[in-house]
Amino acid sequence: MRAFLLFLTLLIVFQIPGCKRAQTSINTTTLKIAVSILPQKYFVEKIGGSLVDVIALVPPGVSPHSFEPKPSQMVELSQCRLYFTIGIDFESAWYDRLTSASKQLIVVPTDTGIEKIISTHEHHDHGDTHGDRSESGEHERFDPHIWLSPELVKQQAATICNALIEADSLHKETYQSNYENFLKEIGTLQDEIRRIREACPDDHGFMIFHPAWAYFAREFRLTEYPVEIDGKEPSPKELVNLVLFAKEKNITTIFIQPQFSPQTALQIAKEIGASTIEVNDLAENWAENLLQVAKVTNSCSHDK
Ligand SMILES: [Zn+2]
Repeated sequence: MRAFLLFLTLLIVFQIPGCKRAQTSINTTTLKIAVSILPQKYFVEKIGGSLVDVIALVPPGVSPHSFEPKPSQMVELSQCRLYFTIGIDFESAWYDRLTSASKQLIVVPTDTGIEKIISTHEHHDHGDTHGDRSESGEHERFDPHIWLSPELVKQQAATICNALIEADSLHKETYQSNYENFLKEIGTLQDEIRRIREACPDDHGFMIFHPAWAYFAREFRLTEYPVEIDGKEPSPKELVNLVLFAKEKNITTIFIQPQFSPQTALQIAKEIGASTIEVNDLAENWAENLLQVAKVTNSCSHDK
């Protein structure tokens, strides 16, 4: 509540000059746009080019699953023209406040029309130490990591392109041609990843702390084995089972992520004599990152 009051105060102080600036120089300024995570910044910049100025709310190294916007970020958001959401929990918690605080801001959900993978995790245990954890678990029964499948990014790109055209119809042709170029780039990326994948058997699997790569795995015929259970560290008993499972699957590499503690993955790796490699599902250079991950998933564990 205190944070919200501070947010309102900051709004009053900062928003008025922001609005005036936007009105007086509407044809010369770029469209100010907010996104939740860095890969989305990459998508919007591909389509918007120099016509857009994009801010990502979740800073590098922070997990979007535990992120909460700061009041200063809410002020920045309220001055944006568009906010492209992607279906992560923190977004919906701020919807009402956002839309009532800023008349000019249009919220565009980029997960519209995307059929999500239902998380295989069971419901969170009751009595979790985090107060609203079970509620957030409910929301994320659908796997939110849709930005890691190039095929699904094509759909997100279409939504982004349409929203940009609607907000700035003067530059329709530029958005449209940038969008078409982006689709071609995605197609080339998919071909490259498939070529890398051809070297490996179909049921090739990899072990990872936080299971972010299910959509990627589905698109490129990989299997993801998570260390995290139900969004949490495994219990000592679950850890024993994971070690047995990893041995059975001949896992030689375990992926760790910069947003999470590597301790458990390191422990499993030590038990089974595997190495660890860092992969980041939130890297800003999306295409290069996916290519890199395709290479490391192929060079690590072999089921046979
Ligand atoms: Zn995640």
